[in-house]
Amino acid sequence: MKINPIPCLEDNYAYIIYNNLTKTVGVVDPSEASPIVNFLKKNNLKLDYILNTHHHFDHIGGNIELKKIFNAKIVGFSGDKSRIPGIDIMLNDDERWMFGDSSIKVLHIPGHTSGHICFFFEKEKIAFTGDTLFSLGCGRIFEGDHHQMLESLNKIKKLPKETLIYCGHEYTYKNAEFCMKYDVDNLELKNKFLKIKELRAKNIPTIPAVLGDELKTNIFLRCSENELKIKLNMKNQDNFKVFRKVRDLKDKF
Ligand code: ZN
Ligand code: FE
Repeated sequence: MKINPIPCLEDNYAYIIYNNLTKTVGVVDPSEASPIVNFLKKNNLKLDYILNTHHHFDHIGGNIELKKIFNAKIVGFSGDKSRIPGIDIMLNDDERWMFGDSSIKVLHIPGHTSGHICFFFEKEKIAFTGDTLFSLGCGRIFEGDHHQMLESLNKIKKLPKETLIYCGHEYTYKNAEFCMKYDVDNLELKNKFLKIKELRAKNIPTIPAVLGDELKTNIFLRCSENELKIKLNMKNQDNFKVFRKVRDLKDKF
């Protein structure tokens, strides 16, 4: 499978996905139609599917226009069928759906929105996490509560460590600054921050992130670790309280 990040709006990424064997073409979270159309035309491709992780405008803004131009089918969460414009194929939690010869497992990961899902390509070990898990960050909690968000992140944490994480926004630099503020002597984080600085100076995407790296550096995935609890002056407190604290600190950052 080939994946091309397409920068959209200010800091969004849509991803064009291409199955080498079946030549199936999809786009994940098209914020707007024109950058997608340009890429597809330049590469002589037709669009078969539009995959939406959630209903926010910066993830579905291109749905209807792209559907009209390419007669593409729109794929999203069944529970959000009234909020995903043009939806054709409705998927449930834990359901599998085939994109060409690639099996996708759907994970319902509420918290940012109540109908947020992750598309996990099982064989390829690729996860589209939308606005739930970012590189070095997690999404704001708009419709769910902290319990739901923490549970959703825990679902993602259980994927294989080599899973490549493709998220909805290029927030990595700012997220790294936040992680550094509370976890400054984390050597892996320091090294990662250096790499991020280099990439962003050249305007190169920091995506994909590797789940195994995120587990060691993303503060939101480390709320169960004693080392971090001590740094936050929350020794022996439960994971949920630590997560809520970190999320609150980030909201004010
Ligand atoms: Zn969103
Ligand atoms: Fe977004």
